[in-house]
Amino acid sequence: MIDVANCDLAYSQGALPVKVYSDFNLKIDPGESLVLIGPSGCGKSTLLYLLSGLLKPSGGEIRIWGEPLRKTRQKTAIILQEYGLFPWLNVEQNVRLGLKVRHQPKKVYRYIVDEMIHKMGLTEVKHHFPSQLSGGQKQRVALARALTLKPDLLLMDEPLSALDALTRERLQKLLLEIWQEQKLTTVLVTHSIEEAVFLGSRILVLKNGRPTQIVGEIFNPQVGQSGYRQTSEFFQKASYIRSLLEGGSAE
Ligand code: ADP
Ligand code: MG
Repeated sequence: MIDVANCDLAYSQGALPVKVYSDFNLKIDPGESLVLIGPSGCGKSTLLYLLSGLLKPSGGEIRIWGEPLRKTRQKTAIILQEYGLFPWLNVEQNVRLGLKVRHQPKKVYRYIVDEMIHKMGLTEVKHHFPSQLSGGQKQRVALARALTLKPDLLLMDEPLSALDALTRERLQKLLLEIWQEQKLTTVLVTHSIEEAVFLGSRILVLKNGRPTQIVGEIFNPQVGQSGYRQTSEFFQKASYIRSLLEGGSAE
């Protein structure tokens, strides 16, 4: 589905260019749930922006379904850590926004919006404003808004990192359900090793450097199996990722 081919990207910081990606290659299959994990500043957000079309590589090319990516696409949804909700709109209006700006007829979007609000468990707060919501609720509004647009690619930049542990676990399960039901392709950035193994069908471990390098690629076909979090395979994968992040070798 996605082909990142020989991509270069540098930011200019003062006089010096900061080379984040150089001759970088990555392929993503349809229906994968790819997780990016690595230390701060290693280039995770940058890769997500490149995949979204918000940033353009200075060399190489990104293709989605064979089409060169030249700008943002309708079928790509992106969710950032800060929720991106409008404080003066209530839950329902925030969820509706994406459809409205794409000029869908009211009859169509009312149904889609209601269904999505229900699915995300937001019916009781649908007339509340963002300031009246918890972090977990805000993130579900952001997710609802993204999903109403029926994306084929969902990009998420540390979407759960601001949440408390229990809310975070609940939303991890919700994300897993959405991915399984909708056969979406997702790319998720996280700092949490647990979350990576719980949500990623493939996990890429990135390393700080100029340019960024992939130091590990873990295939995780058991993802989504019930009780997986309690298995020894789960712990083995988590400790392998930890050792890669620490820069050592696996025990
Ligand atoms: P991560 O998301 O993994 O923390 P980023 O992709 O945000 O990393 O950043 C990768 C590198 O690029 C970092 O060294 C960061 O300082 C640098 N960087 C990010 N955005 C900019 C920018 N707009 N201008 C200059 N340098 C940037
Ligand atoms: Mg980041």
